[in-house]
Amino acid sequence: MVTRRKLLKSLSVLPFVGSMLGTELLSAQVLSNSVAQPATRDFFKELGLRTFINAAGTYTSMTGSLMHKEVTDAISYGATEYVNLDELHDKVGERIAALLDCEYATVSSGAFGAMTIGLAGVICGMDKEKVEQLPDMKGLKNEVILQKGHNIVYTHALKNVGVDIVLVESRKELEKAINDKTAMMWFLNANTDAGEVKHEEFLQIAKKHNIPTFIDCAADVPPVENLFKFTKMGFDLVAFSGGKGLRGPQSAGLLLGNKKFIQAARMHTPPRGFNIGRGMKVNKEEVLGMLVALELYLQRDHAEEWKMWEGQIQLISDQALSVEGVNTEIHVPKYANCVPSLRISWDQTRIKISPEDLRKELREGHPSIETVGGKENVGITTWMMDPGQERIVASRIREILLKNA
Ligand SMILES: *Cc1c(COP(=O)(O)O)cnc(C)c1O
Repeated sequence: MVTRRKLLKSLSVLPFVGSMLGTELLSAQVLSNSVAQPATRDFFKELGLRTFINAAGTYTSMTGSLMHKEVTDAISYGATEYVNLDELHDKVGERIAALLDCEYATVSSGAFGAMTIGLAGVICGMDKEKVEQLPDMKGLKNEVILQKGHNIVYTHALKNVGVDIVLVESRKELEKAINDKTAMMWFLNANTDAGEVKHEEFLQIAKKHNIPTFIDCAADVPPVENLFKFTKMGFDLVAFSGGKGLRGPQSAGLLLGNKKFIQAARMHTPPRGFNIGRGMKVNKEEVLGMLVALELYLQRDHAEEWKMWEGQIQLISDQALSVEGVNTEIHVPKYANCVPSLRISWDQTRIKISPEDLRKELREGHPSIETVGGKENVGITTWMMDPGQERIVASRIREILLKNA
């Protein structure tokens, strides 16, 4: 912010400008602007936006996760100086690769962006003409193979490159699908159980036919080990979301693995512009924020954090169960969003409110609370809450259930 003293000082070294504009008039104007502003603005309130307790999880529609102060400090710091963007990416990539004990890394525009530039890198290598040719696939390998059960909305990140998706359902079909047009084989960790071919076999087939592999692990932190596991296992490229469990910037992510492919992937990113990835920019602030979020995550006491989440889920479960007719189920998803999670259901002939209406009441209450669920139950996680908020969530749920019992 421009202070009166700073302004007068800068004007005093520019006497011509100062006298031309009239120092007193200009400074008075700037001052009246700054005086009118409070030290911190409540932007969301100003905009008339509802904020809420996030008892749901890391959902893009709910703006993902909250960053720790160390991360926002890094972002603020980044905004104070210029650096060369490529040099910054080089240095941070090397640092992240060292932290995660993998060959190479880059900060991407989310896991989605990592998929697009990663595949583009695999297809074009360091060939500038090919880079500039995309998304026209003429003469390029233009097929990506994945299992039918892995084909979720995010495979559009692959289609963005210009490729065709080839879906297979068995090991036999997978091997048969491989041909000289095959650019890459893609695996979705979250849907491991929805595919017949698991990690090791998938890699074994790919290696046999010399096909590059990519695994989408966007929502697979925690556990922390996953940050190391899949590069070690042999996947050429591994993608994580920056703004989910890692609690980095919501529009950042990590692309880890093979140096040759990741350097080629960066051919498709800014500052270069003759490419499909120019819009997938990661600014210097978020590059730093991502690095610091990762450092913080690696330093965290994961066992302690897990115990806290278990305690919070137990507390909410106990409060719900104190109302007669209520059932709860505590579970941990096997793949993706692996955190203690709660499902609350009840006998709807005894407690006369539907899960949807209960969720609506939580949303419309003060403070507002967001949950997940469908017709059968209300779903809760606590990992995206501030400690202490679990008590508010627990008592609100009990209160609404009791009122309808
Ligand atoms: C969230 C998610 C993505 C997208 O990640 P962003 O970091 O938001 O780009 C991709 N794949 C899966 C499985 C996800 O859960």
